[in-house]
Amino acid sequence: PEVVNRMAAGEVLVRPSDAIKELVENSLDAKATEVAVTLRNGGMSFLQVVDNGKGISRDDLELVCERFATSKLRSFEDLLQMKTYGFRGEALASLSQVSKVAIVSKPKDQECAYSGQYSDGKMTSSKPSAGRNGTCVSATDMFYNIPSRKKSMTNSTEESSRVSDVIIRFAIHRPDVSFSLRQMSSSDFRTSGDGDFRKVVGLLLGKEISDSIQDIGMESQKLKISLHGCMARPIAAATAKLHQDKKSRQKFFSLFINGRSVTCTELKHGIDEIFSSRSLICRFMALSLKLDESRVDVNVHPTKKSVMFLEQDEVIGAIVEHIGGIVTEMFD
Ligand code: ADP
Ligand code: MG
Repeated sequence: PEVVNRMAAGEVLVRPSDAIKELVENSLDAKATEVAVTLRNGGMSFLQVVDNGKGISRDDLELVCERFATSKLRSFEDLLQMKTYGFRGEALASLSQVSKVAIVSKPKDQECAYSGQYSDGKMTSSKPSAGRNGTCVSATDMFYNIPSRKKSMTNSTEESSRVSDVIIRFAIHRPDVSFSLRQMSSSDFRTSGDGDFRKVVGLLLGKEISDSIQDIGMESQKLKISLHGCMARPIAAATAKLHQDKKSRQKFFSLFINGRSVTCTELKHGIDEIFSSRSLICRFMALSLKLDESRVDVNVHPTKKSVMFLEQDEVIGAIVEHIGGIVTEMFD
């Protein structure tokens, strides 16, 4: 059974950036206002997420890495809704199956911090420890016990840029939270957490982009959706080709549905079409869509990162129409 668990875990967490996404989501679930990520070797030899959230009590520390240990389900209804994101109480369990996990945590009202060491879903030791309010989760030697996976992951630059991409998405989505990324490279950054979203975009993607940002917002009572976000002013495809430096050619697209970073291929295609049909390029768009929780397809497996939801075509149609309208207005 241990091997089966490990293989399953290796499918949920394919690379360091998957672990980072889960850990950051946990920090945000714990209402953290500061999230600090540290990596060595693109996260392959070491990754750590420190937050100032509500913490894990000494008693709970023993359980957090067991499968289906979650504090986030209070009722059957919750269960239905939470399934939205595929899996509950499996992130830390999975991480502990494929790496050596250490957690130090202190809830505000607990006298001191406790630390726990984990492997294969079990706590192997724990002790009182120095630590501030909040939680620090570290994972060392990812995939040490899955040689094939470890072997296939040789490019730490590639891994670190994937992690960086994950943090950038969260930082832009939540300008009210201070995010930092440290891996002793030129891509290290820290956002202030003061809520100024333009500032975050400017810091992470450049001032040229942040200066041209325009809001996107719509609501539909009928479809029970609300959308907000923004995009940089699109540029002519011909102009974009002239820009030779990488930064001005890059395209950034981020989608959060009900607070989770997801991909939705159909929506992305619809949006791409708005620009390509007008020979335009959109270098930056960040969207946050709120859907009725019950409408996100529960059959989507967590390893499939693309989500699906009910009345998808109508919802996507409405969003594409709305954004298309904004673009048309801009260029009239
Ligand atoms: P889930 O997030 O689906 O509940 P996880 O495996 O990600 O499952 O986490 C298990 C549990 O550990 C969470 O439900 C939560 O109670 C606790 N936990 C994990 N990370 C943190 C954190 N950074 N701060 C506070 N509690 C946490
Ligand atoms: Mg989680």
